[in-house]
Amino acid sequence: MEIRRTPLVSPSLGTARDLLQYHFGPAHAPRRIVIQSSVHADETPGMLVAWVLKRRLAELERDGLLRSHIVVVPVANPVGLNQRVSGSLIGRFDTDSGQNFNRQFLDIASLAGDRLEGQLGRDEARNGMLVRKAIVEALGERAPRTELESLQLALLRLAAPADIVLDLHCSLEGVLHLYTHARAWPAFEPLARYLGVGTSLLCDDSGGHSFDEALNLGWSRLIERFGDHPIPAAPLAVCVELRGLHDVTHALAERDADAILQFIALRGGIAGGVTPPPDLIREPVPLTGSEQIDAPCAGVLVYRAALGASVKPGEPIADIVDPLSDAVTTLVASIEGVLFTRRVVRYVHAGAMVAQIAGATPFRTGPLLSP
Ligand SMILES: [Zn+2]
Repeated sequence: MEIRRTPLVSPSLGTARDLLQYHFGPAHAPRRIVIQSSVHADETPGMLVAWVLKRRLAELERDGLLRSHIVVVPVANPVGLNQRVSGSLIGRFDTDSGQNFNRQFLDIASLAGDRLEGQLGRDEARNGMLVRKAIVEALGERAPRTELESLQLALLRLAAPADIVLDLHCSLEGVLHLYTHARAWPAFEPLARYLGVGTSLLCDDSGGHSFDEALNLGWSRLIERFGDHPIPAAPLAVCVELRGLHDVTHALAERDADAILQFIALRGGIAGGVTPPPDLIREPVPLTGSEQIDAPCAGVLVYRAALGASVKPGEPIADIVDPLSDAVTTLVASIEGVLFTRRVVRYVHAGAMVAQIAGATPFRTGPLLSP
């Protein structure tokens, strides 16, 4: 194992942070896998999974069984992890700019596209190498101005040379689910099987430019732009939502780490036997088919549908109780699907998201991710 540190832009005198990466396996292995956790810094289930993975990967490395170069970034957002306001951790948004830490990553297609003009030929593998080189060079030339920009750039620089990228998050309350690009789904279907993911949401362009989307969409745009030349589909990235904020146990972390290692073995990253993946629990659905139920008014939130429940149109999801006026507002599902996220705090302000339902029929347009 090798530990590397990337210094972030110092935001103020006497203050500096590093992004720590743990590298396992042969440095020049033909394949590279990046696993990072907690870009939303308060989402800690993935940190525990990364800790288990570090231990297991160190054992595999000692036994000479690693065939891929594997990078683990357990704390992908040391900036957000230190944002405390009156005792509460504010890990989702940068308190300086208000920006969501997992939005507005750089557009690698715009950055790298022009330098590929006239470079590509008929050889797909060579084209892949040239595209990767152009992206790595373009990212290498960027000069970040702020700590947030340097953090996002450091994460992209680590992931750009990879073949497979796992970005570990969680919901407030949630079932195990994942988001990825339709083009990346075939690669990640076995991961969904090993993990036991019941809700896989596919989207090519959510409008949010999250970390996984920056990689998937960036390569897709380069593939489209240079359509006369064969370009391999890599890196492929997935955002895995490891249930809810409070689902942090040793048993779950061991189970999820096991699943990730089985997936890596299936892809040839670990020598030895491969465990056949179990059946897929549910076919993926389009992100445009998911309903977000928002609170029309403030009040005490009382859920009437369980997390993971299959619901139908008209079915009650939650009541919002106003103990001053005695009004009870019942929120119902508009679509058929699986209730896959809920809030933690049982008080809502008007306009706040109450729940999400994953349905199979596309109907949404516009930005698909929360701000
Ligand atoms: Zn997140």
